[in-house]
Amino acid sequence: MAATKLAKYQEMRDFAQTAEPSGDDARVVPSKALRFVIQKHAASHLHFDLRLEYDGTFRSWAVPKGPSLDPSDRRLAMEVEDHPLDYGDFEGTIPKGQYGGGTLILWDRGYWAPEQGFEKIGQALAKGELKFVMEGERMHGSWVIVRTKRDSRGKASWLLIKHRDEGAIEGNSSGPTDDHRSVASGRTMTEITNGKGRAATPFMTANGAAAGSVWQSDRDDSAPAGLITPTKTKVSTTKTKTVAAL
Ligand code: MN
Repeated sequence: MAATKLAKYQEMRDFAQTAEPSGDDARVVPSKALRFVIQKHAASHLHFDLRLEYDGTFRSWAVPKGPSLDPSDRRLAMEVEDHPLDYGDFEGTIPKGQYGGGTLILWDRGYWAPEQGFEKIGQALAKGELKFVMEGERMHGSWVIVRTKRDSRGKASWLLIKHRDEGAIEGNSSGPTDDHRSVASGRTMTEITNGKGRAATPFMTANGAAAGSVWQSDRDDSAPAGLITPTKTKVSTTKTKTVAAL
């Protein structure tokens, strides 16, 4: 199932040339709560890649300006091909001349959940509107992603908009772009490009850091419910229910 969804991803890449995951291996750690990652990607045009785990792959969007925490900002999000779940641990440099050539850093990661009324995620995405919460290191609270158009080749444009809640920051028009260090390795884009510093701690996969690393606690199924708290998102009863249902 995941393999079929990844056909496009695999077609677009030459795994003899790029260190990106092929999507063929099974190192992904199962999680009851859905995970998200956002990668900052210095390709020919700098952008942020939003990836939401759903049904065995990451639904993915390229967000040129990055997510904004200001609810008055509408950020263009261009739908791209599904990515394999182990892509959520990828940080490094795609060689020049390859698809997406340039450096990626793991800019945020955590858990997400649909809001009440959007629990049927596949249907919501097919209809073109999904309200959801993200709890990561940089992303907090509720968002909507809504499809605005589809071009003649079937490529879809969406808008990513922050809801007004405790995670919103008015006037944060440039997005939460602070110091741009990786949430997985603490490295800057330049350090990663130069192959300097420590490797990323894993979140999606079992290899890498030994048991007992800081990420161990995030694999506890009880963690997401604690992360996506009613007080943080001001959507108490509905949110608690949604997360519990996962
Ligand atoms: Mn990208």
